[in-house]
Amino acid sequence: MQTNFTPEQLTDPHVAESEGILRKCVHCGFCTATCPTYVTLGNELDSPRGRIYLIKDMLENGRAADEEVVTHIDRCLSCLACMTTCPSGVNYMHLVDHARIHIEQTYKRPLKDRLVRSVLAAVLPYPGRFRLALKAARLGRPLAAAMKRVPFLKTFGVMLDLAPAEIASASAASAPGIRAAQTEKRGRVAILTGCAQPVLKPGINEAAIRLLTRLGVEVVVPQGEGCCGALVHHMGREEQALEAARRNVDVWIKAADTGGLDAIIITTSGCGTTIKDYGHMLRLDPAYADKAARVSALAKDITEYLATLDLPRQEPKNLIVAYHSACSMQHGQKITLAPKLLLRNAGFTVRDPAEGHLCCGSAGTYNILQPEISATLKARKVKNIEATKADIIATGNIGCITQIATGTAMPILHTVELLDWAYGGERPAGVLPSP
Ligand code: SF4
Ligand code: SF4
Repeated sequence: MQTNFTPEQLTDPHVAESEGILRKCVHCGFCTATCPTYVTLGNELDSPRGRIYLIKDMLENGRAADEEVVTHIDRCLSCLACMTTCPSGVNYMHLVDHARIHIEQTYKRPLKDRLVRSVLAAVLPYPGRFRLALKAARLGRPLAAAMKRVPFLKTFGVMLDLAPAEIASASAASAPGIRAAQTEKRGRVAILTGCAQPVLKPGINEAAIRLLTRLGVEVVVPQGEGCCGALVHHMGREEQALEAARRNVDVWIKAADTGGLDAIIITTSGCGTTIKDYGHMLRLDPAYADKAARVSALAKDITEYLATLDLPRQEPKNLIVAYHSACSMQHGQKITLAPKLLLRNAGFTVRDPAEGHLCCGSAGTYNILQPEISATLKARKVKNIEATKADIIATGNIGCITQIATGTAMPILHTVELLDWAYGGERPAGVLPSP
C-alpha cells in the first residue's frame, strides 16, 4: 500500500513503525473471510482491510480520532485471525495497538463510556479489588435485567450478568514462594499468577503447579508480580500497560538472576500474547528494552513448556474432549498442535469444533463493551462446540472459559486441569462425567 507520511511525521517511532506495517498491505482482502466482525456484520469497515484504511487515513493526516474510527476500531476483538490469514505478513496487532493509543489520546468518549472504562481499568487488574467487586456484583445481580433496559446503566447490567454465582476464596497457589520439585529436579520456572484468573478459577494455577512439581520442575511464584497489562493495553492506556510490564520485568529478571529460570509459565493465553510482546512494547525504553526482550524470550504457555518434557503416553480414557483454541493461543502465539497432542498423549480423544479460527467473543473486556457482537459470536461458537458431541470442553484461556460457560451446559476446563488429572492429580471437582 502506498503511504504519504511526511519526513517529519516519520521521526515519531510509532508512526514510522505503523507506516512500515501499512506498506506491507496489498489490499488483497483475504483477511476479511476470517475476521469475526466482518463475518458477523458484513461491513467492510468492520474488516481488517477496512480498519487498516481508517487507521492509515487518521495517522497520515495527523487527525484526532473521530466517532467513525472509534466505532470500527472498538468493534475489533484483537483476535488476530487476520494475522494468521494475511499472506503479506501485515502486523495488524501492532498497528491496532498504535491506533488504540491514538484514540485514547485524541478522542473524548461519552461520559458513560469513560466511566465504564475507568471502572474496568481500576478494578480488573487488581485481584483484591476484583474479588470485592464480584462479591458486590452478587448482591446486585437481581437488578441486572432492569439495568440493561436503561441505556446509561446497560453496560453495568452486562457486568452483573457476567459475574459468577460462586466466588472461590483466595488460593495458596498465588502466595509468593518456591514450590519444590517432588521428584528429581529437571527444571525451574516462574509462574504468572495474574489478576482475573486466580479470582475466577484459582484451580487452574493449582493444577499447573501440582503437575509441574510432580514432573520434577521447581516452581517460583515471585513476590511482586501482577497483571500483565493486557486489559489496559487493549484499551489504549499505554502508560498503565507499560507500568505493569516494567513491574513484571523487574520481578522476573530478579528471579532469573538469583536462582535461574528455564521459563516463565503462563496459563492464560491472552496474557501470554502480551508478555511475549513486552520486548516490543518496551523497545524504546533504554532501561528496559533488553530486560523485556529477555522476559519475552522466557515466556511460555504451560502447554508449550509441557511439550518439552516428553510426558509418557497414558492409557486411553473414555472421554471425548472438544478442544477450543483461544485466539490468543492460535493466532497470538501460533500454538496450535501442542495442547491437542498433550491431551491425546494423556489418553483423551480430542475433537476440533468447526470454525475453530473464529473468536468466541470474550476478548478481554469485549464481552462487556460490545455485548451484542460478543453474544452472537458466543452462540456460534457454542453451536459448533456442541456439534462435536464431546463430553467436555478444554481450552487455555480464562476469558474463553468464562464466556463459553455462560452459553452451554457442557463442562469446561483448562487444558492443564485435564493433564494434571491424567498424570496423577485428583479428578477435577464436580464437572466430569464418568470416564
Ligand atoms: S483482530 Fe480479529 S476482529 Fe480485529 S480485524 Fe483482525 S480478524 Fe477482525
Ligand atoms: S490479507 Fe493482509 S495484505 Fe491482504 S488486505 Fe488483509 S492485511 Fe492487507
